[in-house]
Amino acid sequence: MSQRSVLIIYTGGTIGMWADPRTGALRPMDLEHLEEQVPELERIGVKLGSVAFPEPIDSSDMRPADWVRVARIIGEHYDRYDGFVVLHGSDTMAYTASALSFLLEGLAKPVVLTGSQLPIGTIRTDARENLITAIEIAAAWENGRPVVPEVAVYFEYSLYRGNRTVKVHAERFEAFRSPNHPRLAEAGVHIRYDRHAILPLRPGPLKVHTAVDDHVGVLRLFPGIRPDWVRHALATPDLRAVVLTTFGSGNGPTEAAFLDTLREAVGRGVLLVNTTQCIGGRVEQGRYLTSRAFVDMGILSAHDMTVEAAVTKLMFLLGQGYGDGPLRERFLQPLCGEMSAG
Ligand code: ASP
Repeated sequence: MSQRSVLIIYTGGTIGMWADPRTGALRPMDLEHLEEQVPELERIGVKLGSVAFPEPIDSSDMRPADWVRVARIIGEHYDRYDGFVVLHGSDTMAYTASALSFLLEGLAKPVVLTGSQLPIGTIRTDARENLITAIEIAAAWENGRPVVPEVAVYFEYSLYRGNRTVKVHAERFEAFRSPNHPRLAEAGVHIRYDRHAILPLRPGPLKVHTAVDDHVGVLRLFPGIRPDWVRHALATPDLRAVVLTTFGSGNGPTEAAFLDTLREAVGRGVLLVNTTQCIGGRVEQGRYLTSRAFVDMGILSAHDMTVEAAVTKLMFLLGQGYGDGPLRERFLQPLCGEMSAG
């Protein structure tokens, strides 16, 4: 069997940071130094290539243009590599993973995002294991096919579908969860893949989308939310869609003044989408009286999508230039495993 090849794309994040001796603040290091920290990479049995952002960034500075940058890099190197590992800060990794899953239409090779909670040069770092196993997963092929032909996140012995992940912990090495979809794999002595949880190989060819429309907002409800505040937020010029994060199975206040602000926005053509603040489960609009008005005014249920998936899916679909009807229709369909069918 020929040696598999993996391209490492380094965007930044804690994994490659070092403590500036002057200020003590963590700053990104370049890829060469990062690779020096993991001499095991020489013995891993995978041909490695690498590309780095000219200025690695903390993932809090990631913007939609950076998601597109990563998607383009994958597109440019797609035929030359068997898999891809994206080194990325954990803070917004779930957004980038979700965005990439939409931007890389027809993806038929592994794209594994990973990072770490402690910099690679520190003694108790989680970076080394995350990086080495992510490479192993990106290079895993069986019977001439990749084992994980989708965008995934690998962190602390677990592999998740990228567009189902949420960052749930700021300190624990086990920083991610995928509350509404089973893990794709668990790494112990062996890497055990859950074949039923992994997307089936999709027919190519790869199409890299590069248009993303960021005129999207997120509005988190809370008891006592003031209608005038909501009205101002929804009156943002050029706003095209808003993800509401609501209570429980998709509920919100029934106060007339609040509902009027939503109705006015819908009337101006702003698409409203309902996601839940709960970590797991799904929105069921109309189950309680407190979500009945949402149904009546045409707010779309995001079902069991994460906020990260809903936001990036909207940015992607708006970028494709769909009109209102087709946009709603596409939003309600699973495009790449980001929501459960039905
Ligand atoms: N602030 C860092 C980042 O997201 C945290 C991390 O990498 O885990 O880039």
